[in-house]
Amino acid sequence: MDLLNTLVDKGLRRELPSREEALAVLATSDDELLDVVAAAGKVRRQWFGRRVKLNYLVNLKSGLCPEDCSYCSQRLGSKAEILKYTWLKPDEASKAAAAGVAGGAKRVCLVASGRGPTDRDVDRVSETIGAIKEQNEGVEVCACLGLLSDGQAERLRGAGADAYNHNLNTSEATYAGITKTHTYADRVDTVQKAHAAGLSACSGLIAGMGESDEDLVDVVYALRELDPDSVPVNFLIPFEGTPLAKEWNLTPQRCLRILAMVRFVCPDVEVRIAGGREVHLRSMQPLALHLANSIFLGDYLTSEGQAGKADLDMIADAGFEVEGAGQVTLPEHRAGGVCGSEAAACGSAADACGSAAEACGSGGACGSHAAPEPAEASEARTDLVAVRRRGAGTDLAPNA
Ligand code: SF4
Repeated sequence: MDLLNTLVDKGLRRELPSREEALAVLATSDDELLDVVAAAGKVRRQWFGRRVKLNYLVNLKSGLCPEDCSYCSQRLGSKAEILKYTWLKPDEASKAAAAGVAGGAKRVCLVASGRGPTDRDVDRVSETIGAIKEQNEGVEVCACLGLLSDGQAERLRGAGADAYNHNLNTSEATYAGITKTHTYADRVDTVQKAHAAGLSACSGLIAGMGESDEDLVDVVYALRELDPDSVPVNFLIPFEGTPLAKEWNLTPQRCLRILAMVRFVCPDVEVRIAGGREVHLRSMQPLALHLANSIFLGDYLTSEGQAGKADLDMIADAGFEVEGAGQVTLPEHRAGGVCGSEAAACGSAADACGSAAEACGSGGACGSHAAPEPAEASEARTDLVAVRRRGAGTDLAPNA
């Protein structure tokens, strides 16, 4: 297939595909799907070999958010019966983080619900970062606290944070239909602040909110422009009790096409399968490892993932290996912080807010924007959505 040969060539050269090529990946048929996965897999192997980076989420503060992100189970007015608690103490967070590290995670993602941190919150998180770094040598820490004010990114960096996550989530054109309490531009601004402070930027998207193929391509190109080091790809978990509870728009095949498109547009960036992996990829998860080079281990922010041991078994069975603490995730030209000056290079990043990585609960297509018809039929798999009842904020052991 000429399209795939062209995309592989471009991916190996870190050259940006055209929008038409990116759209064509999303439009491929089921008959072509394995060819698409094989082609994007070549690009993945070129830059990341067969390594899979494991990340571990610690939800520092759950629920009770004043923002109204439609996809999120922690949003204002959410009726989702999630765990709700205020800030974990540093030793509680450190204990949860240690479980993830013991399970094989090399990065811990500290997430808090809310519009953004106060300066006092930055103090708390700084203390938590210190406790985690003291007890887990070599661990990477990413903070995900929402919109940042001036100087906060620098303070987090000074406290030892390695990265900051803030997702763009969806295209600029559809953003106002998803969230009313802040803007797309706010999100871009926070990613830029993280970058400017010398933090590794992590920013991604949520698919399945009723967006069009054009929207997906738009957000991935916007991410590339922002140039994050990691791009989490969430698949909407339509939580009961959120505005997007009925948005079951994804099939495993569609998820694979989306991941392949992200890989072609962001060839040398850490592409991470985030929330919704188990719910939407289901038994096709191992194929997705040929596209993404990073996943979350165990549970998400407000929902439960498959057992951590099942994640590790899947990686081994599919012929991949867990990336060790001593291995550098990014290719040499990016690891030095140089990120491709050539037009192409990489990803971009965006938000991280609160609940992002996972659990971006439910939302989607909500509200006011006219969502296009989903391209593929899918069925509601509410049986696969389990609210998190263990780990951080509970007396039960974490899943890691
Ligand atoms: S995504 Fe973040 S800011 Fe938005 S409602 Fe959820 S926790 Fe609040």
